[in-house]
Amino acid sequence: MTKYIFTTGGVISSLGKGIASASIGKIMESRGFKVAMMKLDPYINVDPGTMNPYQHGEVYVTEDGAETDLDLGHYERFINTETTKFSNATTGQVYNAVIARERRGDYLGKTIQVIPHITDEIKERIRKAAHVSKAEILIIEIGGTVGDIESLPFLEAARQFRLEVGYHNALYVHLTLIPYVRSAEEIKTKPTQHSVGKLREIGIQPDILICRTEKALRDDIREKISLFCNVNKDAVIEARDAESIYQIPLVFKEQGLDKIILGQFQLKSKSTDLKDWKKKVVQRAIHPRHKVAVAVVGKYIGLQDAYKSIYESLIHAGIHNDTRVAIKKIDSEEIEKHGIGSLLDDVSGILVPGGFGYRGIEGKIKAIRYARENKIPFLGLCLGMQCAVIEFSRNACGLKRANSTEFDRKAKYPVISLLEEQKHVKDMGGTMRLGAYPCKVRKGSLAYKVYKKGLILERHRHRYEFNNKYKNLLEKKGMVFSGIYPKKNLVEMVEISNHPFFLAVQYHPEFKSKPDKPHPLFRDFITTALKHQKK
Ligand code: GLN
Repeated sequence: MTKYIFTTGGVISSLGKGIASASIGKIMESRGFKVAMMKLDPYINVDPGTMNPYQHGEVYVTEDGAETDLDLGHYERFINTETTKFSNATTGQVYNAVIARERRGDYLGKTIQVIPHITDEIKERIRKAAHVSKAEILIIEIGGTVGDIESLPFLEAARQFRLEVGYHNALYVHLTLIPYVRSAEEIKTKPTQHSVGKLREIGIQPDILICRTEKALRDDIREKISLFCNVNKDAVIEARDAESIYQIPLVFKEQGLDKIILGQFQLKSKSTDLKDWKKKVVQRAIHPRHKVAVAVVGKYIGLQDAYKSIYESLIHAGIHNDTRVAIKKIDSEEIEKHGIGSLLDDVSGILVPGGFGYRGIEGKIKAIRYARENKIPFLGLCLGMQCAVIEFSRNACGLKRANSTEFDRKAKYPVISLLEEQKHVKDMGGTMRLGAYPCKVRKGSLAYKVYKKGLILERHRHRYEFNNKYKNLLEKKGMVFSGIYPKKNLVEMVEISNHPFFLAVQYHPEFKSKPDKPHPLFRDFITTALKHQKK
C-alpha cells in the first residue's frame, strides 16, 4: 500500500517547493523506500509545451515523451525513480478528460461539477501515478500558492484523499516564508499564520511546516509558529537559504524530518544513509578545488528557469571535476547587435542550447564559428546542433545561404528541414518528436570516447532534422556524423575532427544528468574546458 505526501506552498511563489519536495523524496529514499513524485499544475494548458519559456521556464521531457513541468527535472535529479507521463497532471488535462467523457455520454442524465467529477478525476490520476510507479511513498506537489482560485480543486482533492486512504496513509506538508523585517530586526510569523489559516478553511491541517527564512528560527519562534498553526514544534522545519540546493536533504534530515514522516505513517525505517551524497555531491559542490568559466549563448538568458536542466548539468559536471563552473550567460541578440568583441575572451567553453524561432539565431551561429575556429570546447544542444550545421555549411562548405526551413522557408540550401511526416502536422501541442530514441554511436568518434558505448538512449523535443542530402558534402569538409537513429537514418550527433571538443547533439542530454551521476557529454565538456583553461 502506498503512503501519500502532499506538498503545498504559501505566502509567495518561488520558495523552492519543487526542491523541498524532491529533498523530502531523497531523505525517504535514503530510508530504503521506493519513492515516486508527481506534480499537479493548476493552469489550463494541457501541458507546458505550448508556453513560452518566459511564461513557464524550461519544458522538461520524460523518457516516455511527455512535455512536463520543470519540477519533474528536480525530482529526477534528486531521486532514483524516473518520471513518466503520469507524473504531471494539469487542470487542462483533467477537464479535457472529464469533458470527453461527458460528450461520450458516460455521465448521461447528470450535471457535471467540480465536486465530485473534477476532484474524482484528480484523485484517480494520483492513484494511477502510485500504481504505475509502484511507489511505497508518493509525493504530490501542488502547484501555485494557497489562496489562488485555480488550485482549489487540487487542494479539495488532497483533502478528500486522506479521508479515503486513512489518517496514517497521507500527510500534508506546507512550505511557507518567514520574512525578516530589517527595520524591526525581526522575523515575522504572521504571513505563515494566515497561509495556514487559509489551508484550514479548505479543510487541510498541515502536519509539517517547512519555513523558508534568511535567519535562524529561534526556539521561541518555533514555539509561536507551532502554537498558532497547530503543528507540533518538532515538525516546524527551518529551511534557510543554502549554498547548494543539494544540501537541502541534509538540512531536513538533521532536523529529523524523515523520523517525523515515518512516525506519522507508522513505518519502520529500513536503512538510513546520505553519506555518499554528502561526500560526493554536497562537499564538492560547496568547496571545489578548481574553477572554470563557460558561456551559455541563448536567447532566454534573462530567466533563471529557462535553461534549468542545462545549468544543473553544468554544475553536476563541475562536481565530478571538483570544479566550480561559472556560467556566463550571453544573450545571442547582443552578439548580433555588437559582434563578439571581447565577450568570449574569458570563457573556456561555449554551449549553445535549444530554442525555437529565428530571433537570436545569427548570434548563436557567430558564437559557434568562434568556438570552431579558435578551438574552444563547444557543446551544442538541439537547436545548438542545428545552428552548428548551418554554420559549418555556410563557412566551411561554401553554402552561403544555408539555413533551416524553420527560419527561411525558401532557403537555398535547407541543411535543416522538416521530415515528410511533420509537414502534415496541424496541431502544435504534443506533436514534436518527443521522448527517448535509440542512437547508434560511431566507433572511433569523440562521441564514442565520451559515451564508451555503441548504443545510447536520449530524449528529444524538436520538429526539424538534419537534411541527409548534404551529408556527403559536409563529411568531405570535415564534419563527422557520429550518432544516427538507425530506424529512420536521422542524424543525432555531429562533431568536427580537428578540434579538441566540438560536439553537438539533436537531443537533450541535460534531462538525464544527476548530481552524483553527471551526463558524460557535460562531464567531458567541462574536463576539456579545464584543459583549455590551463593552456
Ligand atoms: N526549433 C528546433 C526544432 O523544432 C529546435 C528545437 C529545440 O531546440 N528544442 O527542431
